[in-house]
Amino acid sequence: MNSGISNSIGISKNIGILGAGQLGRMLALAGYPLGNRFTFLDTTGNPSAGIGEVIVDPDNQRLAEFLDKVDVVTYEFEHLPVELVKQIEQHKPVYPGSRAIAVCQNRVEEKALFDRLSIPTPAYRVVESAEQLEAAAAELGCPVVAKSVTEGYDGKGQAVLKAPEQAREAWEAIGHRQLIVEAFVDFVREVSMIAVRGRDGEVVFYPMAENQHVDGILRYSVAPLPDLDASVQQTADSYMRALLDELDYVGVLALELFQTRDGGLLANEMAPRVHNSGHWTMDGAVTSQFENHLRAVQGLPLGSTEAIAPTCMVNVIGREGDNAALLALGHAHLHRYDKQERPGRKLAHVNVVAANHAELIEKVRACLALIPDAPPVAWSFSN
Ligand code: AMP
Repeated sequence: MNSGISNSIGISKNIGILGAGQLGRMLALAGYPLGNRFTFLDTTGNPSAGIGEVIVDPDNQRLAEFLDKVDVVTYEFEHLPVELVKQIEQHKPVYPGSRAIAVCQNRVEEKALFDRLSIPTPAYRVVESAEQLEAAAAELGCPVVAKSVTEGYDGKGQAVLKAPEQAREAWEAIGHRQLIVEAFVDFVREVSMIAVRGRDGEVVFYPMAENQHVDGILRYSVAPLPDLDASVQQTADSYMRALLDELDYVGVLALELFQTRDGGLLANEMAPRVHNSGHWTMDGAVTSQFENHLRAVQGLPLGSTEAIAPTCMVNVIGREGDNAALLALGHAHLHRYDKQERPGRKLAHVNVVAANHAELIEKVRACLALIPDAPPVAWSFSN
């Protein structure tokens, strides 16, 4: 049968990944069972994937060699030069495409896209001087959050202003030419959506996850949510579909949102790649976000996104936990990234799976006792 032949060709592809960190590593781990091979292009000089073939290319000399080896290109990091991605698109298919990268690496473009698609966001202004920042803070009403338009992630390049008079200090601390200033949202919880679009336009959605950040860095994600109104999930799904279709997107897209007291959702930011808040899917969903991303970029059928059980993803940051004791818990799946310990560095995550949410809370507590510097969980539904 023709379709069988094309599928078997699709499945033996060599996947090129721009970036060679833990997200690339987990993509490869999901792709080997599909018969994929992996070639990474690392421009940092400091790859950590520890798997597949890694081309270390800090001086941008080895792109042709990388392109020769791969059938299709994807990435695990969106802060790539758009020109580089466009150049690669001349030679090999790149999913998601350069337009998605251009939008997601620039907060002004991202907000403009949300506005165009009628996806609500916190009230915001774009400013280009300390004076404009002060005026925007006064107009929006403090507190406000100022964020660099480019290069921000994990809460970097951001400052909260409690009063407009803090504008100059914040402007200098962030040190960028253009900032987005947002009203500070009094959210009930932070949530995220992970959705996948195939090359044929098929879209699948994972259940919404609740995320707990500390100092701008994700610590815990839990899904599915026990108290989620079906209409809220549907609204989030409709936002995702609008974004995916508008960008003619292929692969996994992550969208972080704030849920407000009235049940409304405000979009914060999106990432055109597999996402930390989707790591729970490795053990808690029928098909992981990593496998589904690989299926999408190869034009293969997408797998079920259904949750198997309530799951909590616990990030291990800076220092490793007592790994033998974690494994002895029996309900904790440890995913280590084979990295050296360093303050603030994501080293591993643990997926804790339980039969119900009450049990999950207890099991997560036992897990956190074995992880250094783990902040207390504060889920919206456990109070
Ligand atoms: P971001 O890099 O935009 O995801 O911001 C990092 C974290 O800062 C978010 O996950 C929130 O915890 C917090 N944050 C960002 N923007 C806002 C906002 N407008 N209101 C309240 N908290 C925010």
